[in-house]
Amino acid sequence: MSSALIDGFGRKIDYVRLSVTDRCDFRCIYCMAEDMTFLPRQRILTLEEIERCAELFVANGVRKIRLTGGEPLTRKGIVGLCEKISAIPGLDELVMTTNGSQLRKYAQPLADAGVKRLNISLDSLCPDKFKAMTRIGDLHQVLDGIQAARAAGFKNLKINSVIIQGHNDDEILALTDYAIENQVDITFIEEMPLGHVGRSRELFSSDQVRDSIAARYALLNSSDSTGGPARYMHLKDYKNTRIGFISPHSHNFCSTCNRVRITVEGKLLLCLGNEHSLDLLALLRRYPLTNEPVLASIQKALGNKPEKHHFSSDGDVQIVRFMNASGG
Ligand code: SAM
Ligand code: SF4
Repeated sequence: MSSALIDGFGRKIDYVRLSVTDRCDFRCIYCMAEDMTFLPRQRILTLEEIERCAELFVANGVRKIRLTGGEPLTRKGIVGLCEKISAIPGLDELVMTTNGSQLRKYAQPLADAGVKRLNISLDSLCPDKFKAMTRIGDLHQVLDGIQAARAAGFKNLKINSVIIQGHNDDEILALTDYAIENQVDITFIEEMPLGHVGRSRELFSSDQVRDSIAARYALLNSSDSTGGPARYMHLKDYKNTRIGFISPHSHNFCSTCNRVRITVEGKLLLCLGNEHSLDLLALLRRYPLTNEPVLASIQKALGNKPEKHHFSSDGDVQIVRFMNASGG
């Protein structure tokens, strides 16, 4: 089996984001409600099913897999799963997005298990604000986790920061300075209207973030791409840090979309901003011994991958799914 996965608009799918859990040890205000109900075990993909999905997609042209969640490091057996996925022939890169809270313990085992890169979320450098944004998180645990990842030899570490007006819009320069000092990239993400998390705020746009940074640092345009939705700029005087922007509202990045998502419930999501999905979990359980019918359904579903998402900038929730369930 090695047929490439091409959608109805001719875009080749070579990147899968796989959510390994909907659970998390944080409750970030833009991602979850304070009081969350998580999925029961029988409704989520087993580790073996996750591995089977990974094998199936890699056999059909996927070259990069990102494990995400929820918080991937809260899933039992995550290191063993990484070992198995990273060993799949044909996969170029296994990477992970994490909130960093458990990296002190897991950075080295993840590196040993073949995880190539980490994106670590960090929205504030002020312990009180960090706690307010994550509702639970301990900033120092995450900062220690980032240092543990550096010590484990991870190259190209990237910080992800969601900027929320009135919460951390005054920390853009501090976060940029932190990225420069630690020689890591940083990507600023516009908040997406996913899930009913009690949003009633103005969007803080990537253009506003860029203007704040430009007040202190000389920024240079760049055509760099990591195959994702981020647009990058360079800092004229600091070569080891790039500034990325993910701007679902202000800059639509759909025309080059090369990805699909698999939720922990086994739903194949064709687009983060739309509800189209395929029930992979049901297919995997219906056909435990053969991938052919599963692949045929995936290829058919790809015909429904929308041309683009339609997030509006008024902050309205258009998608009821929470981000932790989508695999951010
Ligand atoms: N728990 C891990 C973490 O926080 O990095 C991985 C999962 S999290 C859902 C993945 C990314 O999505 C994080 O960088 C987070 O900041 C981002 N995110 C979550 N909800 C978001 C939202 N409503 N809008 C924009 N980004 C969001
Ligand atoms: Fe957890 Fe990540 Fe969502 Fe924060 S953004 S609540 S760390 S899944």
